[in-house]
Amino acid sequence: MIPAEFEYQAAESVDEAISLLGQGDSDAKLLAGGHSLLPLMKLRLAAPSLLISLGKVQGLNGVQRANGGFSIGAMTRHAELAAESDLGVTAHAAGLIADQQVRNRGTIGGSIAHGDAAGDLPTVFLAAEGTVTAQGPNGERQIQATDMFKGFLTTDVGADEVVTSVYMPALEGYGWGYEKFTRRAEDWAMVGVCALVKSSGGTCEDVRVGLTHMGIMPLRAGATEEALKGQSLSPESIANAADQVAEGLNPPGDLNASPEYKKHLARVLTRRALTAAAG
Ligand SMILES: Cc1cc2nc3c(=O)[nH]c(=O)nc-3n(C[C@H](O)[C@H](O)[C@H](O)COP(=O)(O)OP(=O)(O)OC[C@H]3O[C@@H](n4cnc5c(N)ncnc54)[C@H](O)[C@@H]3O)c2cc1C
Repeated sequence: MIPAEFEYQAAESVDEAISLLGQGDSDAKLLAGGHSLLPLMKLRLAAPSLLISLGKVQGLNGVQRANGGFSIGAMTRHAELAAESDLGVTAHAAGLIADQQVRNRGTIGGSIAHGDAAGDLPTVFLAAEGTVTAQGPNGERQIQATDMFKGFLTTDVGADEVVTSVYMPALEGYGWGYEKFTRRAEDWAMVGVCALVKSSGGTCEDVRVGLTHMGIMPLRAGATEEALKGQSLSPESIANAADQVAEGLNPPGDLNASPEYKKHLARVLTRRALTAAAG
């Protein structure tokens, strides 16, 4: 399909991008890798009158150590993340996104600002309790992961704001696992699970579980986390916690998987991800 007509501007700076967002009609959109926005435009599910490219803006690329974690420029591509093994589960999940072409174009800022329930990085960001820095006409603000995802393709990033960076904690002392179930290697997740476990003397001190494609937005698996926290880590306690992962969830069915099948997948993948994270 061919997208509806639109104007195009390439911003030279974050300030210019913000100013262009203000000048456009209220439906102006930022363009990062274009690998979520352009498919929506081609399907006529989005028809922005103005696209503002961030491709020429300096200072939005790369990964730096900062405040005990990593500050990742919003325009950092999935392929660059996948090559940074220090990023742990973030690198691993980025390497599982689609195919090399998509990973060469898609960005972490675009992925998190878009907030697709089937996206891999939003789930990792939620489980890792990361922070987004967004800049708008009134300056800069931080958005915590717990406040980020608001509903179907809806995030806390304002229509007049640019995500400039994503902070990921280093997660020292945490083991991790990310399990993604797909029909073909390059597909979107039917279900994905990110597990982070911190243990001491065989006891689970902290556990965080994020879920991909189990609802209308990325989710935390609260029942599983509660069931495992403070418990001795064993195959039985992990299986018991994983069995509760779908509690209270109503995942939408699609061509690939019914809601019941997704719940089954979530239980199996959670057990595997927790086992990997528990070491
Ligand atoms: C064939 C295919 C398969 C895919 N498979 C997967 C997969 O398995 N897993 C997965 O996670 N993803 C997958 N994706 C999506 C891919 O990861 C996207 O690149 C990503 O979701 C969006 O990043 P982007 O840079 O392309 O954003 P864009 O498409 O450019 O933008 C997406 C949205 O975010 C907004 N936006 C972008 N950057 C910013 C910013 N800095 N500040 C504020 N708003 C911003 C845009 O305005 C737009 O609304 C797939 C895409 C394709 C085409």
